[in-house]
Amino acid sequence: MAEKLLRFVSVAKEMPAKRPADGRRRDFDEIYAQYAADRAQVQASRCSQCGIPYCQIHCPLQNNIPDWLKLTAEGRLEEAYEVSSATNTFPEICGRICPQDRLCEGNCVIEKGFESVTIGSVEKYITDTAFERGWVRPGAPRRELAQSVAIVGAGPGGLAAADLLRRRGYQVHVYDRYDRAGGLLVYGIPGFKLEKHIVTRRAALLEAAGVRFHLGVEIGRDLAMSDLRARHDAVLIATGVYRARDMQMPGVGLPGVVAALDYLTASNRKGFGDAVPAFDDGSLDAAGKHVVVVGGGDTAMDCVRTAVRQGAKSVKCLYRRDRRNMPGSQREVNHAEEEGVEFVWQAAPDAFTGAAAVKGVRAHRIHLGMPDSTGRQTPQAIDGSSFTLKADLVIKALGFDPEDMPAMFGAPELAVTRWGTVKVDHRTMMTSLDGVFAAGDIVRGASLVVWAIRDGRDAADQMHRYLRAKAGLALAQAS
Ligand code: FAD
Ligand code: SF4
Ligand code: SF4
Repeated sequence: MAEKLLRFVSVAKEMPAKRPADGRRRDFDEIYAQYAADRAQVQASRCSQCGIPYCQIHCPLQNNIPDWLKLTAEGRLEEAYEVSSATNTFPEICGRICPQDRLCEGNCVIEKGFESVTIGSVEKYITDTAFERGWVRPGAPRRELAQSVAIVGAGPGGLAAADLLRRRGYQVHVYDRYDRAGGLLVYGIPGFKLEKHIVTRRAALLEAAGVRFHLGVEIGRDLAMSDLRARHDAVLIATGVYRARDMQMPGVGLPGVVAALDYLTASNRKGFGDAVPAFDDGSLDAAGKHVVVVGGGDTAMDCVRTAVRQGAKSVKCLYRRDRRNMPGSQREVNHAEEEGVEFVWQAAPDAFTGAAAVKGVRAHRIHLGMPDSTGRQTPQAIDGSSFTLKADLVIKALGFDPEDMPAMFGAPELAVTRWGTVKVDHRTMMTSLDGVFAAGDIVRGASLVVWAIRDGRDAADQMHRYLRAKAGLALAQAS
């Protein structure tokens, strides 16, 4: 039955069913079920079709949200899928893991006093249904072009560019040092937020469209940037940021004090059934341990919730600011609390204690002082507030910086910013090397999947312009 719109007055916001915390603690499956068709239709019908849709303005992809909500409410799902996939390469992934509370849904302005439309869940529903019904097909081109491109990095940025360039007919080669495509979608983000088959079916579609993957190939080690430039007509750097920020304090080198991404990668690899020596010998496994995670971003939230699922005895998150000022999504904090994680707000570590391995975290309390130039309150240590938390595993989740890219690629002429991110001309997305473009976290610094997709799509457009001009020039020179 087709649903009328503007039903926010009579229909309350309803997310898809969330699994009870007790059950979720025992596995790595996603925590939300799929909407039943009638529920998705009814929830989409809550949209008031705003004249100026703030949801769309605050979506990094400028998704045409009101239109696909209307089509869903009317039961015209195939058209909804067409509209939604026109601007988003991976709508089912964004529907699952975008921090919607900060983006589209956080800016949904139905009417004061009414809760937002469940945009992300409807977006996920539309594309999952499209997959089930066979509407999602490989984006094979109508005609082949001779020019080829190299994409370094098979994360969301690189894959979004690969998709668009392949649809245009280019010979697309994706190089990645990992053995699976997906970047942080496969080895960073845990399955309870994004089940891995969702990512692997996308990689399989790209392969079916003719994208060639060269996995287990590290640029800078197995091939030089100069090799890629010689073999291909254009190159995209989409390598993400992986250098973990560290802390300097007594005991930081003790066994049992580990980096977040090592921990999460090991857990994700176990989920695939891989042999992971550092997990199998217990050093990256939280089972039976008292775990303390230091940090307050999305990575920290993924670590605490992974530790719960591995069977930790206790899991604490130590963060120097308060709940309101943490960078992680509030929704993720709520999930973590439901699952039994304890947050120790306004506290920072001084030392990791223990002899042969870590046994505890010595920390102090923090007072949040006057706001600094960025508007955030400055953390100040409270004298005499020292306390110790028991810990057999400490996970450092303090964020990521870029590696030394010119050194990594053996390309000293590759310009970088003072933060080490790759410098691009923001109109053309080209780096200081002719024909070499860059997109995603390696340009922005650690960011979001949806921004990597946006950048990958924009880079593909700019590479297309560059390649057309290059082909035109070659033709003119030949004639
Ligand atoms: P990446 O996804 O990092 O992919 C880069 C790829 O490049 C990798 O596969 C890497 O192996 C490859 N590579 C690097 N160097 C080389 C080389 N020299 N040669 C060959 N290959 C190379 N964002 C969200 O929107 N929602 C979330 O819930 C969320 N959760 C996150 C959880 C964690 C734990 C982390 C770490 C990040 C999370 N993010 C989240 C951020 C998001 O994952 C990133 O912003 C996004 O993946 C960036 O995409 P990218 O394509 O730029 O890089
Ligand atoms: Fe919202 Fe992300 Fe989808 Fe945009 S891509 S509509 S921000 S869930
Ligand atoms: Fe619909 Fe909310 Fe977007 Fe308005 S802001 S168009 S109500 S989803």
